[in-house]
Amino acid sequence: SIEICLFPPCAPLERHMHPRGQRCSRILREMECSLTARDRVGLQDFVLLDAYTSETAFLDNLRKRFHENLIYTYIGTLLVSVNPYKELGIYTKKQMDVYMGVNFFELPPHIFALADNVYRTMISETNNHFILISGESGAGKTEASKKILQFYAVSCPSTRLLDNVRDRLLLSNPVLEAFGNAKTLKNDNSSRFGKYMDIQFDHRGAAVGGHILSYLLEKSRVVHQNHGERNFHVFYQLVEGGEDDLLRWLGLQRSCQNYRCLVKGDCAKVTSINDKNDWKTVRKALSIIEFSESDIEHLFAIIASVLHLGNVQFDANIRGYASLSNSNELHWLSKLLGIQTHVLQEGLTHRKIEAKAEEVLSPFTTEHAIYARDALAKAIYGRTFNWLVNKINESLANKDSSRKTVIGLLDIYGFEVFHVNSFEQFCINYCNEKLQQLFIQLTLKSEQEEYEMEGIEWEPVPYFNNKIICDLVEEKHRGIISVLDEECLRPGEATDLTFLEKLEETLNGHPHFVTHKLADQKTRKTLERGDFRLLHYAGEVTYSVKGFLDKNNDLLYRNIKDVMRQSQNNIIKLCFPKTEPDTKRRPETVATQFKSSLAGLTDILMSKEPWYVRCVKPNSGKQPGRFDDVMVRHQVKYLGLMEHLRVRRAGFAYRRRYEVFLQRYKPLCPDTWPNWKGTAAEGVQRLVKHLGYKPDEYKMGRTKIFIRHPRTLFATEDAFDVC
Ligand code: ADP
Ligand code: MG
Repeated sequence: SIEICLFPPCAPLERHMHPRGQRCSRILREMECSLTARDRVGLQDFVLLDAYTSETAFLDNLRKRFHENLIYTYIGTLLVSVNPYKELGIYTKKQMDVYMGVNFFELPPHIFALADNVYRTMISETNNHFILISGESGAGKTEASKKILQFYAVSCPSTRLLDNVRDRLLLSNPVLEAFGNAKTLKNDNSSRFGKYMDIQFDHRGAAVGGHILSYLLEKSRVVHQNHGERNFHVFYQLVEGGEDDLLRWLGLQRSCQNYRCLVKGDCAKVTSINDKNDWKTVRKALSIIEFSESDIEHLFAIIASVLHLGNVQFDANIRGYASLSNSNELHWLSKLLGIQTHVLQEGLTHRKIEAKAEEVLSPFTTEHAIYARDALAKAIYGRTFNWLVNKINESLANKDSSRKTVIGLLDIYGFEVFHVNSFEQFCINYCNEKLQQLFIQLTLKSEQEEYEMEGIEWEPVPYFNNKIICDLVEEKHRGIISVLDEECLRPGEATDLTFLEKLEETLNGHPHFVTHKLADQKTRKTLERGDFRLLHYAGEVTYSVKGFLDKNNDLLYRNIKDVMRQSQNNIIKLCFPKTEPDTKRRPETVATQFKSSLAGLTDILMSKEPWYVRCVKPNSGKQPGRFDDVMVRHQVKYLGLMEHLRVRRAGFAYRRRYEVFLQRYKPLCPDTWPNWKGTAAEGVQRLVKHLGYKPDEYKMGRTKIFIRHPRTLFATEDAFDVC
């Protein structure tokens, strides 16, 4: 379908360096011919909405476009994307060619247009950028990030030498998804880790390398899945797709039903997923990313050993202590991990206690043994995942030390609310609060502060600042994480419930925190005793404190670590190094580690130019063609889209420092050409007078000229052609 572009929305000025300008003008003219289409397909930029403050008008436009399969709409340079839940055929190589090097606003909105715009800004300004992709679980973040990566890998200049970098960049995805994604109730391919990926470009603009940072993998999934959910994809892929010989070598049978940790959610088979094919892809990808055959073997041995470990069962012996009920699993574990059977057996059923100067072996109860077994499975998987990311990074690393610029892609788990929410959701939603805070700081706040600083008259746009919720979670001493860590310091005494009580003491009266005890009568009915509820910027979430202490401690008994250190498996050897930091010192808790890694991420992002993709989920049934008004309205609200639009509308699309502006346009005015003797501001004033700028089209700030609409600037650019 044809889209209308009445006049260009806010976009960087690059017309003069537009390689295919002529063709685009033609496209533009063709589009303008069918004005009647406008009613049908809506506006491609919300900035053009007449009723731009009306949420209903916003929603109408989004809906109209969604039903025309136009899933992308701009707010200036921010891209709003609605998950179509069907293949649209708009991501072909041909489409990439169309968008490569074409002006942002001259073609229908597209993720490729944004990618291209970021890319060209990076090239022309030689600086670093990042694209923040946000939205709730299942809204299309991961797909968007893959499309962007594909665009860069396929469209950017390349040489034979770089072709393998490109392949590795692309193939890192299926591998990480196999190990880090899983089916949840919200999304059949839900990312269970956060991912930030830098794509590095050389001075010619060729993609020459990459680096991935991963955040908090949801390890608990290895041993437990809620109903309707699965373990990580890779397990099913191996069992369904692994070659007969391989399975035999790993002691596995070809049926997921045989493995306890694969069927907890009772949905090993998912119609939208073809584990067998995915296995082939992953297997091939591993070779191309340069994993050695021995690494691959050892990796598979680990996946298999986690499956075997999940099947390890314990009986109580006559003294009530745990003993292994079956030696078959032990046999395979011993073979796959390269650890002697009796050592493993002892490690799984005992812990070492230091009593005075000697170490004593203390036997586990069955309950304890199960706990230790699960902790081991999680540790093995989690550490292997980190190893995998490192390995991929080695393969993506660019050894040449010449200057590079980067585009970072942030695809991190979206805001999540389940029927029962636990520590994992708490961390995920906290992360989303932090990203929202970053968005506020980088757009709403900084934009308005700039006007203020420049002395530009300005009607402030009110917005909800979620800093209060970030503080509630992370503040020293009285934040939820602090309280949790303190409780984790009292082993034996503290429980999940004492943690809750401490929270109630510390946070009594906080406007965004409530529990059964603190709630008014009406709210109390909706809360259980073991719950606390946070009023997130995106809505209320009730968390069950059950498991918070354990998950935050993430303890692995020291002697089982010692056992793992004896492993002959190369990867396990690296994951459980002999020189692990002193085990007597208390390791950082999971939440605190997460908090610092998010602070690190914020620093990384703050040093780069931001771009945004806001993903919207149209319905909760993963269905094509269904646009649930209530659900979308809620997301429009919490994604801050209306505020963003208001700031955009009320503001100035362009600002340029006087010096820069004068330097570029001084040939257009006889007074300023070739040299202007006065201050840059005066020169600009003279220049714009000469060019006939109307008073409402621009404002003079302290150091910059602000131009309301890009068309003004385009007219100025066109003046070059005339003279
Ligand atoms: P998120 O990462 O936000 O949780 P995903 O990107 O994994 O969500 O998207 C969930 C599912 O929605 C995908 O597996 C795919 O089936 C569908 N989907 C998302 N974006 C698109 C798109 N642009 N075109 C077609 N289908 C999509
Ligand atoms: Mg995802």
